[in-house]
Amino acid sequence: MSEVSVTKNAGGPAPAADRLVVLDNVNKHFGALHVLQDIDLTINRGEVVVVIGPSGSGKSTLCRTINRLETIDSGSITIDGKPLPQEGRELARLRADVGMVFQSFNLFAHKTVLENVMLGQTKVRRTDKAAAANKARALLDRVGVGTQADKYPAQLSGGQQQRVAIARALAMDPKVMLFDEPTSALDPEMINEVLDVMQQLARDGMTMIVVTHEMGFARSAANRVVFMADGRIVEEAEPNQFFNNPRSERARDFLSKIL
Ligand code: ADP
Ligand code: MG
Repeated sequence: MSEVSVTKNAGGPAPAADRLVVLDNVNKHFGALHVLQDIDLTINRGEVVVVIGPSGSGKSTLCRTINRLETIDSGSITIDGKPLPQEGRELARLRADVGMVFQSFNLFAHKTVLENVMLGQTKVRRTDKAAAANKARALLDRVGVGTQADKYPAQLSGGQQQRVAIARALAMDPKVMLFDEPTSALDPEMINEVLDVMQQLARDGMTMIVVTHEMGFARSAANRVVFMADGRIVEEAEPNQFFNNPRSERARDFLSKIL
């Protein structure tokens, strides 16, 4: 992926082949609540997009629609040019292209760290066990928890568990990684060890959508900040522009509360 250079604000849309995730006029309701309203969003290959906004603005729902943990009411979502299928093996395969890391680590408690990182490979990708184990060990090393491979999740710190969750997602060779507030449940001293892994992933060229309140991360890693409020994308901008000079009143108000 490193051969793709992401040009900031080059003017005009990226070539179709560079558009990895495309949401076109997406709408979603929960009963009477219009939780995603006319969402148009394109994430280009190799791009890091940070999504911020007040609680309840629809950030998690946005993430969940992208790997079809939630259905949408109208509009379309394509991943690498393919529309999200409704169900079945096609959906499982496409979903595997989208790695997801949640606030709660969601590791399987009764499986070892190594088994957690092997599972998707053997079940969804049909990789044989030896190859899956090798890859799992390499990924655990990459996120700095290689020595924890034979432990159970509960024996690890929160920061270590979240790094295992990242390794588990990476084991599927995703085309894009979604992070939904990956550090919100962590004790403060563990936040940086997770952000550092994410920074490295970004530098390695991974396409990433990151919901976070970590503004330092947004400033240093993001190509673009997307600000959501009340189910809408209110503002999209390059990080310096967004933090130093937000255009919308909503964003100014939000930033004044968190910075
Ligand atoms: P955020 O992640 O920005 O805090 P969410 O996407 O979690 O926002 O939620 C957006 C809105 O949708 C909130 O008002 C929330 O209560 C509501 N919501 C989220 N999930 C559901 C659900 N499964 N059923 C009903 N309402 C939901
Ligand atoms: Mg959320």
